[in-house]
Amino acid sequence: MGTKKWNMIIDVALCHDCNNCFLADKDEFVGNDFPPYSVAQPWSGHRWMNIERKERGQFPIVQVAYLPIPCMHCGDAPCMKASPEGTIYRREDGLVIIDPQKAKGHKEIVGTCPYGVIYWNEEAQVAQKCTGCAHLMDEGWTETRCSQVCPTGAIKLVLAEDADMAKVMKDEGLQAFKAELDTQPRTLYKNLYKWEKIFVSGSAVYKDTDECAEGAEVTVSSGGAKVGAGLANNYSEFVIDKLEPGKEYVVTVEAKGYQPYVTTVKPEASINLGVLFLEK
Ligand code: SF4
Ligand code: SF4
Repeated sequence: MGTKKWNMIIDVALCHDCNNCFLADKDEFVGNDFPPYSVAQPWSGHRWMNIERKERGQFPIVQVAYLPIPCMHCGDAPCMKASPEGTIYRREDGLVIIDPQKAKGHKEIVGTCPYGVIYWNEEAQVAQKCTGCAHLMDEGWTETRCSQVCPTGAIKLVLAEDADMAKVMKDEGLQAFKAELDTQPRTLYKNLYKWEKIFVSGSAVYKDTDECAEGAEVTVSSGGAKVGAGLANNYSEFVIDKLEPGKEYVVTVEAKGYQPYVTTVKPEASINLGVLFLEK
């Protein structure tokens, strides 16, 4: 049997920005040393669990998304490669730890993480970040403080062998944040499209009656291939999500007895096409 390793799954669709996870992290680490993994986090300035916020769309079709960002505990960690030998190491369970003794005085470590999750503790003269609650894992905990307090179940800790985790990843469609960095993170995301992709939205209305075109079929294609589809709802609105930003899209709205409405857009961010009138 292989070693069970630490993995964190964060569901972007379930995070409501309550910051319980951020506060639980503060409760655990501010003022408390956990040798050999961490010295106390300072009272302010650090966000070892950081919630980023994003608004997508244009009035009145607007969505918000929240992205909790702890350390990714990368399997191929840029911080380890760029920092002085021995200052950062990986445990058998996959957790990446900044050694608070060996890393003392090395402020340059802060700049080695492409996710920006390392902070400088001026008083202790040491770089710090999320330890994955390594001290609690040692005591047999199966939750981190942040996963334990999340009221919506947006954060889940999974202790699993790599082969089993690979299956979970595939089955649940988990993704790495900033996958282009290829860091093989142990923190993985569900519904990351809410952060990284865009949507095209609008309202379909019958021109002759001024009624909502409920059920009108909307298709979005790019380079001749269909990349998204949906229906206008009973308020006439449609939202076609999971599109790549910066590409050219042909949006077609069709309803029985009416001429198709066709428009081409090249959005860098989520857009609202406004009211689209369908003519007989
Ligand atoms: S997220 Fe940053 S600090 Fe954490 S392991 Fe990866 S490179 Fe290192
Ligand atoms: S505790 Fe859960 S819902 Fe609240 S901010 Fe953290 S991840 Fe989001």
